[in-house]
Amino acid sequence: MNAECSAGADAREGLLSIDLQAIGENYLDLRVRLASGSRCGAVVKADAYGLGMAQVAPALHRRGCRDFFVATQAEGERLRRQLGADVSIVVLTGVRPGCELACARAGLKPTLFTLQQLRDWVAICGRAPCAVKVDSGMTRLGMTPEEFELLLADRELLRAADIRMLLSHLACADEPGHPQNAHQLRNFKSAGERLRGLCPAIQLSLSNSSGIFLGEAYHFDIARPGCALYGVNPVPGSPNPMRPVVELSLPIVQKRHVSSDCCVGYGATQGVAAGGWLAVARGGYADGILRAQGGRGCGWACGRRLPMVGRVSMDSTTFDITALDDAERESLRAIEILNRHLTVDEVAGYAGTIGYEILTSLGNRYYRRYK
Ligand SMILES: *Cc1c(COP(=O)(O)O)cnc(C)c1O
Repeated sequence: MNAECSAGADAREGLLSIDLQAIGENYLDLRVRLASGSRCGAVVKADAYGLGMAQVAPALHRRGCRDFFVATQAEGERLRRQLGADVSIVVLTGVRPGCELACARAGLKPTLFTLQQLRDWVAICGRAPCAVKVDSGMTRLGMTPEEFELLLADRELLRAADIRMLLSHLACADEPGHPQNAHQLRNFKSAGERLRGLCPAIQLSLSNSSGIFLGEAYHFDIARPGCALYGVNPVPGSPNPMRPVVELSLPIVQKRHVSSDCCVGYGATQGVAAGGWLAVARGGYADGILRAQGGRGCGWACGRRLPMVGRVSMDSTTFDITALDDAERESLRAIEILNRHLTVDEVAGYAGTIGYEILTSLGNRYYRRYK
């Protein structure tokens, strides 16, 4: 028996290359865009958008990042073990009732978004540092304007708590012309100034990746970019200022000549005429080749785009390689799904989604190579 054949993830099962150097350069690029006095944090939630927090976070740390944001306490605890004590870690979705002490002991700052959460935190953890989120207009997480007024009026609570950061999140930062941006900016600025009057050391944080590109007024003390670090275009509709980070290559497991007109894949949704050539690649919707791309998406080989045909299956995807010449077809071993030409944003367009979902869907069946 060949041990190599059962050894788990192998480059021959699909190769996902993640360029840590590019992530580091994207971090530095965002940092120099910030207003002076404003720090650049990094959002590494959801396993660094699917790219591997264990590799990505130390790479950012080496570039000087000391302000990290995660979604859950478990992610925060893992990050704390990885990076040690000298970084700030904010948990964006708060803290579950009953987990307050564990959160404080791990040195994580939960983002609290109700007055009751803040009261509970102070009752259980005293002056353990925390963050507060105010809703400036997105209507998702955050204290409502009414609740925020109650917070400002509760001097006793403000004295008892150690609120290190006030956050809010922009709903339309990727649409620079959207009036919601200016509206949220006004609300956040006013909330921040009023709370700072009572808690002078508090840091203000509003911008995600796209928010950084809205201008210095949006930068405040700490920016919280995620997607742009990982190569997703933070300014849709304009050329992507970020370096590409991910390449994904799928091995071809079968090539076939079409001898008579046929239909490809589940549902027989798409026809191929006699004389054509098909290549079946290993990798399907269980590997983040989103099924919604079926019949619309493409792969990349020999310097050109090759259309997907038929539906994407769970473990395989079929491509029309008729456009290749004989020699190219003969030597074809793999087809790329993401690269510097076929970007995360383009692929997201085929699937009717956003680059974020392409990255976070990549799954764990690929062999991962970190550069
Ligand atoms: C995910 C997230 C971010 C990062 O957003 P990007 O658009 O990926 O830059 C920032 N802030 C909050 C609250 C988030 O949930």
